[in-house]
Amino acid sequence: MRSISCGVITRFAPSPTGWLHAGHAYAAWVAWRMAMHGGGEMLLRHEDIDFSRVREEYYGAIEEDLRWLGVAWPEPVWRQSQRGAAYVAALEQLREAGLVYPCFCTRKEIAAEWARMGQAPQMGDEMEGVIYPGTCRDLSESERNERLERGDAHAWRLNVGEAARRWGGLYFYDRRFGKIAVDGQHSGDVVVARKDIGAAYHLAVVVDDAAQGVTLASRGEDLLGATHVHRILQIALDLPELEYLHHPLVLDQEGKRLAKRHDALSLRSMRAMGQKPEQCWAAAEKWLRGFL
Ligand SMILES: [Zn+2]
Repeated sequence: MRSISCGVITRFAPSPTGWLHAGHAYAAWVAWRMAMHGGGEMLLRHEDIDFSRVREEYYGAIEEDLRWLGVAWPEPVWRQSQRGAAYVAALEQLREAGLVYPCFCTRKEIAAEWARMGQAPQMGDEMEGVIYPGTCRDLSESERNERLERGDAHAWRLNVGEAARRWGGLYFYDRRFGKIAVDGQHSGDVVVARKDIGAAYHLAVVVDDAAQGVTLASRGEDLLGATHVHRILQIALDLPELEYLHHPLVLDQEGKRLAKRHDALSLRSMRAMGQKPEQCWAAAEKWLRGFL
């Protein structure tokens, strides 16, 4: 499944849960240009495991907007929703290695645990929300098994502290920032398989990047807080470690990160208003000067 190209392989991986906006255009342009510069290719992957939020019409709309922007990718385009077996196998590998544990907590219980410790909930990156206080990490083997046998709903969490002990700390390399060392408390034990869908972003992205032969992951700075987890997963699953390049985020006039609610900044609306593709990638191209 590894790409036959031997240059730099990047990917752009949107979720088909809304129209692409200026922030996506920036990210896609960075991925595309880094791949072209490195004599490789940019892959497109639909991150659609959260099927409750996915809508069918967005798959085609995303591809149409990207073609208009001027980027290209080889077929077939992968959909994470079709990759469940690979994620299950990876989770099994992590279980055998003793690096994950079942977490039976609800959101409410996690908030209550922070309150019990006399603290306001610690916020992690946007994807994780509240940092997990580690409640289920210390369940006894018998309690854990009893609850699993009873069929209690559970997610699987990565024991980040255990991984740090085995592999000498939490860090990764970024082309822009150099070596970034992370305090394990910063993100807590992240979910690698969700209660409701049996998979989760962190595991899926690592498994797919390796299976598709990606060599450079370019993505927004908002994921800086999660990248050490991805490196741990690569080591634990015996997968190649990637290079990373975290780029700036596109902000709105109030300095907030663009979200899908910014309809006026969707590529679709910009096209309708007569904007040209180069107006959508100019900022990314300017920023890339330091890397090309
Ligand atoms: Zn728990």
